[in-house]
Amino acid sequence: MSTDSVQNNVVVSMEYTLQVDNEEIDSSKGQDPLEFLVGHGNVISGLEREMMGMKVGESRDVVIQPADAYGEFDEEAFMQVPRDAFPKDIPVEEGAELTVRDDAGQQRYARIEEIDGDNVTLNFNHPLAGDELHFNVKVVGLREPTSEELEHGHVHQGDGHHH
Ligand code: ZN
Repeated sequence: MSTDSVQNNVVVSMEYTLQVDNEEIDSSKGQDPLEFLVGHGNVISGLEREMMGMKVGESRDVVIQPADAYGEFDEEAFMQVPRDAFPKDIPVEEGAELTVRDDAGQQRYARIEEIDGDNVTLNFNHPLAGDELHFNVKVVGLREPTSEELEHGHVHQGDGHHH
């Protein structure tokens, strides 16, 4: 397998900054580069697609539309819940983030949008839903995945992570 450029089933190490509305909201500065296995849904689809073919040392500015990132903002993705439906140990306050189990038993991210008396409004939109993402990415390493990483579809860190 060739690892001289970004392509499916290669592990990429990258440095990045992420801006939304000209404001930096995330960055690898001061941390280890982000490592991910390409082609297994480990990062948003638009980012992978725009990075294809990059070589070590190369950097790019990439703009990703919501549909290829965290989705469009969904006006319907709100739900009203009575306050006493929350477990006692959860701080019920506006802006609080939590995971809730939906009817299908799936864990879903939610944020408390508004509290009106005993009515709590949950917002299920991802915090970056509807946002155009501006990445600056730099590839700092490319390697073959281990057979186990390939089998799992994600990178294993050096700390013996396994699951
Ligand atoms: Zn694993």
